Amino acid sequence: MTDAAEAGVRIIAVANQKGGVGKTTTAINLGTALAAVGRRVMILDLDPQGNASTGLGIERANRAVTSYEALMGEATLAEALVDTAIPNLSLVPSTIDLSGAELELVDQPRRAHRLKEALSAPAIVDNFDYVLIDCPPSLNLLTLNSMVAAHSVLVPLQCEFFALEGLSLLLRTIDQVRESFNPALEIQGIVLTMYDARNNLSDQVAADVRGFLGTKVYDTVIPRNVRISEAPSHGQPALIYDHRCAGSQAYIKLASELLRREEARIAA
Ligand code: ADP
Ligand code: MG
Repeated sequence: MTDAAEAGVRIIAVANQKGGVGKTTTAINLGTALAAVGRRVMILDLDPQGNASTGLGIERANRAVTSYEALMGEATLAEALVDTAIPNLSLVPSTIDLSGAELELVDQPRRAHRLKEALSAPAIVDNFDYVLIDCPPSLNLLTLNSMVAAHSVLVPLQCEFFALEGLSLLLRTIDQVRESFNPALEIQGIVLTMYDARNNLSDQVAADVRGFLGTKVYDTVIPRNVRISEAPSHGQPALIYDHRCAGSQAYIKLASELLRREEARIAA
């Protein structure tokens, strides 16, 4: 099989400046689905809220070394890595400490390149197929670091009225990052989340987004599903909490669509 396993690590920033659109849920469940088919996956929690860390069952007490120390150059990412309950899935956790990083880095040289430098260590490049960076809900220095470090951006987009406006701003930001920092930055894909088939607005938004971005939008759509929203309070990905629910099944489909598209990209 030709994919990341042969092509080297693929670093994907899961980003959208809006909160509550499904970034963390997508990072956790896509990561779990990729790990389940044998890919070596790291989820890098870059949100001071630490929702990815909590959602994977990593308690505060087990977050001694975090993405904050790695960004500040006080530790390596390898030192921050913790195992999760899921085989092939590791986490770099975060805590609220990370909220100080932006101010602390502001007058540092190469402040936008900190994460890229941390991720280029052989311990990361040689030991992972996918790194999914769970970004904060803002276009701040943390998100910029993730886009400078990443090969691509995966955008979860909630099917709601202002979705396209927010998307335009995000796409402009990606263009600016390409111009100034990372010319090779790609859009991995747009995934429509919290889709409600009973709601005409969901359909309208989905059609608009597909009209605007064409094949960059995944065929797979993530439905609104109560089991997905219950899972984090159990410290488990939805895929472990209830792998049969419609939400989990959608994330399994998303992972196989992503892998299929990766094969096509690498072959091209
Ligand atoms: P973000 O990381 O973009 O802020 P989250 O992934 O944390 O967004 O999702 C926001 C909230 O919505 C969380 O409570 C999460 O459990 C819930 N949620 C996410 N995706 C779904 C879904 N498909 N169906 C139902 N609830 C969802
Ligand atoms: Mg989040």
